[in-house]
Amino acid sequence: MRKITRQTKIIATIGPASESSEMLTKLINEGVDVIRLNMAHADHDWIRMITKRIRTVGKELNREPAIMMDVKGPEIRTGYLHKDLDLQKDDLLDLVFIAQPNPPVCEGIWQVEVNYDKLPDHIKTGDTVLLDNGLIQLEVIDSSTERIRCQVQQDAVLKSRRHVNLPGIETGLPSLTEKDRRDSLVGIECTHDYFALSFTRDADSVDLFRSFLRDNGSDAQIIAKLEDQKGVINVEEIIQSSDALMVARGDLGIECAFEDLPIIQRKAVGACLAAGKPVIVATHMLESMIESPVPTRAEISDVANAVNEGADCIMLSGETTTGRYPLECVKMLTRIASRMEEEIQPGLTEELKLFRPKAKMLRSAAMLAMRLDNSAVLVFTRSGDLAAKLGALRPNGAPLFAFTDVKGLHRRLRLIWGIEPFLMDFSQDPEITIQNAINRLHEGKWIEEGDQLVTVTNAFAHRKVIESIQIREVEF
Ligand code: PEP
Repeated sequence: MRKITRQTKIIATIGPASESSEMLTKLINEGVDVIRLNMAHADHDWIRMITKRIRTVGKELNREPAIMMDVKGPEIRTGYLHKDLDLQKDDLLDLVFIAQPNPPVCEGIWQVEVNYDKLPDHIKTGDTVLLDNGLIQLEVIDSSTERIRCQVQQDAVLKSRRHVNLPGIETGLPSLTEKDRRDSLVGIECTHDYFALSFTRDADSVDLFRSFLRDNGSDAQIIAKLEDQKGVINVEEIIQSSDALMVARGDLGIECAFEDLPIIQRKAVGACLAAGKPVIVATHMLESMIESPVPTRAEISDVANAVNEGADCIMLSGETTTGRYPLECVKMLTRIASRMEEEIQPGLTEELKLFRPKAKMLRSAAMLAMRLDNSAVLVFTRSGDLAAKLGALRPNGAPLFAFTDVKGLHRRLRLIWGIEPFLMDFSQDPEITIQNAINRLHEGKWIEEGDQLVTVTNAFAHRKVIESIQIREVEF
């Protein structure tokens, strides 16, 4: 049995540092399982071009990654500035809703445009407004329909078109913007496997997005991004309604208190494990490696912690989009994850509830594969559900082979912890399907003579189809 190096999956966001065919080849060869395309920075022509390129490289390598389109979601930004503003502590600053003259000052008060004129309906005196990913803190001291007057809380420089965060404030912005719809239509055209929904606030936002995808002919899955307080409050219903969860720590760390972040992460990962839904820990995992060939010691511990908590995937953003060391980052994640995985005591997730009899059999199959020497689990799936539940059980150390005859599902399954997916036609006769799968695994040098495959499959008994667990010794 080929030794598995890592069961936690890796997601890499693609950008200028990683978009070439050469770099994509290296990243996929190095084990990137899912590729993320971030619509905050991508245009439609680039999406079409890069999707084709990723798919070509994946086919050449016989290892097709899943593609995730991350739609931007509702966002408030400050307007264009001819020159950076040198803000001093206690300065007054008005957030206004029309473009401002140059310089943007009126009677000694800074005038900064924001792109959402309904903001005064949602904001009150004493609220906090954060600009530029939380770097600039403002306190609201007065609000009217024309402007929101704020006081600057510390010296800072404000640049053009900065991100605005409003911790704990419901803005009334739609969960799916016009831009998100236009972008998603391109993702649908490109048959992207996953769509990540930014700022998912509740189950309704997921349902709305799912209807949009289905109405436009896509059966892609939805990854809900947990990134504000409303999402944290509604995390259970969000997990139920979505196909996977991303703990998007970039915005989450601005929208919630810093010190709550590790606790939110731990609880969200635990809730996903209990529900059998894949979970991604994202953002700043190896942030220092954007510039440096080695990570900080704290980053190493952060990655190991996410693996230890049981995340399905760990994600790279700036590290692989614009960073100087994209390949080294992927190698580093593999190194840290595989070392941590060695330390995790073999055992199956107790909280996971399995309802279908065939799904319940998975627990026994996974247990057998963990106990037998040189063994792996082999499943056949058309909906992906069996493979998802198998991964969710977390059978540490046991290879998990999932065969499907559904094109596209073989890519989608790459997101799930531990699953090694294969696309293959199924025969009417389950026995022939099993033999074909064994041949395929043997050809790919995944297994060898004498290995044991714990197989969950249909079998014929007195001309009836029954569910079965079988232990197949590999022999030729
Ligand atoms: C995040 O906020 O952590 C995140 C992944 O989302 P984005 O990169 O879209 O801000």
